[in-house]
Amino acid sequence: MAAPWEDVLHEEPLVREAALLAVDAALLAGVLMRTEKEPDASEVVNYAPFTLLPSAVPNALFEQAYAVQQDFNLLVDAISQNREFLERTLASTIKVDDFTAQLFRIYTQVLEEGLAQSVFLGINRSDYMFDCGVDGTPALKQIEINTIAASFGGLTSRTPAVHRQVLKVLGKAEEASRLLPNNPSQGLALGIAKAWELYGSQSAVVMFVVEEVQRNIFDQRCVENELWNRNIRVIRKRFRDVFEKGSLDDARRLYIDGQEVAVVYYREGYVPQNYDPQNWEARLLLERSRAAKCPDIATQLAGTKKVQQELARPGTLERLLPGRSASVARIRATFAGLYSLDLGEEGDNVAAKAIADPDCFVLKPQREGGGNNLYGEELRRVLEKIKDSPERTSYILMDKIKPQPSKNYLLRPHSPLKVSECISELGIFGVYVRQGKEMVMNESAGHLLRTKAIEHADGGVAAGVAVLDTPYLV
Ligand code: ADP
Ligand code: MG
Repeated sequence: MAAPWEDVLHEEPLVREAALLAVDAALLAGVLMRTEKEPDASEVVNYAPFTLLPSAVPNALFEQAYAVQQDFNLLVDAISQNREFLERTLASTIKVDDFTAQLFRIYTQVLEEGLAQSVFLGINRSDYMFDCGVDGTPALKQIEINTIAASFGGLTSRTPAVHRQVLKVLGKAEEASRLLPNNPSQGLALGIAKAWELYGSQSAVVMFVVEEVQRNIFDQRCVENELWNRNIRVIRKRFRDVFEKGSLDDARRLYIDGQEVAVVYYREGYVPQNYDPQNWEARLLLERSRAAKCPDIATQLAGTKKVQQELARPGTLERLLPGRSASVARIRATFAGLYSLDLGEEGDNVAAKAIADPDCFVLKPQREGGGNNLYGEELRRVLEKIKDSPERTSYILMDKIKPQPSKNYLLRPHSPLKVSECISELGIFGVYVRQGKEMVMNESAGHLLRTKAIEHADGGVAAGVAVLDTPYLV
């Protein structure tokens, strides 16, 4: 699955020229991030890291990933409405994982009170790698599905133009013309706009719940601008603003600064560090409200790694999506081996297997955002330590996906230009809107390709490991 630029990869003067142009093109196109030094101001900005060249992606797997996205939307939405499944699946996890337990408490509390919300908006991103089989054939395998704060739908729409120009510099004009356009932020905004419309108050706003420090603001602005273009007012607030100024009226309409909020779009709230006691209170207030939350707390729980692992059990998908055997088959085809570490014989056996062969597995806690998983010797060491304690149930085990590496240059501010052996991860954005029991929108909304050097086991652009890329279909 090599891309047709192996021939120019080592032509140093040409590559250097292309890299200089690429950085300027990225800045011009708006592939931007605030800097590490000044992460909370836009006075000084730099380009978001990206590959010099597009990476080859097998066309069939790309199409497969798109074809299964609406199924995943249905699945996530079904899980979010299935209290019995969420309770059973997360029972062992919430005994040992405080963060998931706290989310679960809010979930339960909101259900006990009765939902005020009737419009539901899901924005997710299902991530995959191309597992290289023994005969060399790549297969699409899901890494995870992100049901909260799935990012880079904005910046990724701007890399095809940059890569087109780079390819032209390298004498690959024909290939340049084959790079697909891609605009997830538009699809995301269409979903938000639909939820806003169904909420039914012209004067209500969309509220982005944003981080304390907002380095990736430009990615969010892409979605925001799409909404302003549709004459929908957007406000940006932190949890602490909500704590200080948010309130509910008798009908549990949400107000902040005197403005009614129709849609709450979280770009924050997915890791324990995002919360102090006041922020938890703010989260509860938002969840109790009538506003459409993207995601609501149930949908956030549907994206936990423990849920992902339970989905891989025979029969689970069939029960969650009755009468949808084609969807079930498409979804199942993307699953890698996933194993429960719950206490008992099944967990004992799989723990022993992973300790004996740690390079074949990934050990995952219930965390998001990159940099949390354990691999190789570290996996063995940790698993040996916790294998007889309940702590092990806060993790799941997954087969390690082994893609075929390819060469590329990873362009990062202040980093030397050098060729790296790389692997890529393809994400497909999904958007859906449900009103009561009726699905009124169910779409795939574009893609994100991220690429990293093989020496990094874990990923994530925000974590400083992966960089933005553009697929070149082969
Ligand atoms: P997070 O929620 O932190 O993003 P992920 O499950 O996406 O957690 O894992 C983070 C990164 O670790 C992925 O982007 C990928 O690079 C790597 N990774 C995760 N699972 C696997 C796996 N099964 N095989 C190989 N690499 C994996
Ligand atoms: Mg991930």
